[in-house]
Amino acid sequence: HWQYFTRDMQVATQRRLSLLHDLRHATEAKRGLSLHYQPQVDIASGRMIGAEALMRWKNDRGENIPPYRFIPVAEYSHLIIELGEWVLCSACEQLRAWDRAGLPGLRMSVNVSPAQFRDPDFVGMARRCILGYGIDPGRIELEITESMALTDMEAVVDTLRRMRDFGVGIAVDDFGSGFSSLGHLQRLPLNRLKIDGSFVADLSAGSSGATIAEMIVRLGHMLGLSVIAEGVEAREQLDALRRMGCQEIQGFYFSPPV
Ligand code: C2E
Ligand code: MG
Ligand code: MG
Repeated sequence: HWQYFTRDMQVATQRRLSLLHDLRHATEAKRGLSLHYQPQVDIASGRMIGAEALMRWKNDRGENIPPYRFIPVAEYSHLIIELGEWVLCSACEQLRAWDRAGLPGLRMSVNVSPAQFRDPDFVGMARRCILGYGIDPGRIELEITESMALTDMEAVVDTLRRMRDFGVGIAVDDFGSGFSSLGHLQRLPLNRLKIDGSFVADLSAGSSGATIAEMIVRLGHMLGLSVIAEGVEAREQLDALRRMGCQEIQGFYFSPPV
């Protein structure tokens, strides 16, 4: 029996372990965690219609740890269940604060990990958060990824149906970047497709990004779904997306997460 070992592996493991240790403390104490919100804009009217909640974490040494580093660790360790509850409840609390400040009824998008979906209390938790802050469930949208639908399809469909019956919307995040089966799309109770930013990055005429983005817009509309594009950084991208019939955008062009 052979196993390869290199010193790099040990360093990487130790790093992950210490990150997990810090994240566990942060989660328990709700310390150093915050949410930033990025506006979502209706192309036709130019108005902000909603926001996506994005998690931020500053550890005890004052270092900002980006989501691509701590979310996978949180998922692997199941800390994401507790963190995800904190995210959804905090986002609902923020929405109530915006309502009270007189902002027009905005929508709130919240990212959800596959591990959260497999938690038997997920639907109950979501109901408690949303109703607890007196929010109309129709104003909350959960962002799931394509890969989520591939594993344990029956259980995912069941959970999505229960969320949909409750009134919450469902969007497929990073659409086009994974390996989704188009057949699944019809079976899932969805409201929106979110075009992955990698296709938005190059929308010049004839580019593959433009071809795929246009295809996603058409696919969405044929399935009766609305379409939002993420990662929109420039005016030309906005114009190209408008010409394709995409309804909503999110990206640095309008605002970074704040
Ligand atoms: P995502 O849900 O696809 O979020 C979009 C990411 O693109 C965000 O990165 C956002 O800051 C970034 N972004 C927004 N506009 C632009 C733009 O114009 N150009 C470019 N280049 N990037 C833009 P962020 O905040 O680092 O989050 C990364 C990922 O981490 C998210 O991808 C999401 O999958 C995950 N994540 C963040 N917060 C949560 C959370 O509360 N729960 C879960 N489960 N995952 C989360
Ligand atoms: Mg998202
Ligand atoms: Mg995305």
